[in-house]
Amino acid sequence: MDAYSRNSLDGKGLPLVATVHYGTDYDNAFWDGTQMVFGDGDGVVFLGFTRSIDVIGHELAHGVTQYTAGLNYRDQSGALNESVSDVFGVLVKQHSLGQSAEQADWLIGAELLAPGVQGVALRSMAAPGTAYDDPQLGKDPQPAHMDHYVETADDNGGVHINSGIPNKAFHDLAVALGATRGRSRARCGSTPSPATSPPTATSRPSPP
Ligand SMILES: [Zn+2]
Repeated sequence: MDAYSRNSLDGKGLPLVATVHYGTDYDNAFWDGTQMVFGDGDGVVFLGFTRSIDVIGHELAHGVTQYTAGLNYRDQSGALNESVSDVFGVLVKQHSLGQSAEQADWLIGAELLAPGVQGVALRSMAAPGTAYDDPQLGKDPQPAHMDHYVETADDNGGVHINSGIPNKAFHDLAVALGATRGRSRARCGSTPSPATSPPTATSRPSPP
């Protein structure tokens, strides 16, 4: 909230409420429209859903989306809704770890998979479709490109599936921008004199 200068999810100081240990062996977490809810996992496939800071950020971002863009939770707008949550979730993780786009693993829910599950996380933003391939869990169904968009009636029209497409786009852009920023910093460092810089009146404050 500090990083974005935002007063809670609704911009008006909404209290952040979460239910934990929801249900019994519950294998999920969700935003119910008013609060966060986290299951403990069944211990076989999933561990507790509060283990991953990016999953907590993901659920909170659903609240922000609800109060701002209001993306309908179905089909393409639903996949965008899911992707926005993954984006902010992974940025929370990277911010907390002090990582650059290049250093980050871009994994969502890396701490949730129970020991023995063949996979690295719930989702991979860098390589959608590669997060897991396991006898119990199945194979990560996410596409990474619009050419492979999945038409399905399940999962509100594949909101957790097709979110891989904008996730991958965000990852690629963030890594490219990070690299560009690194290069322009290096260039600035070799600038001989500030006297040759453009007039300050036309320069804008650099983004956070
Ligand atoms: Zn979600």
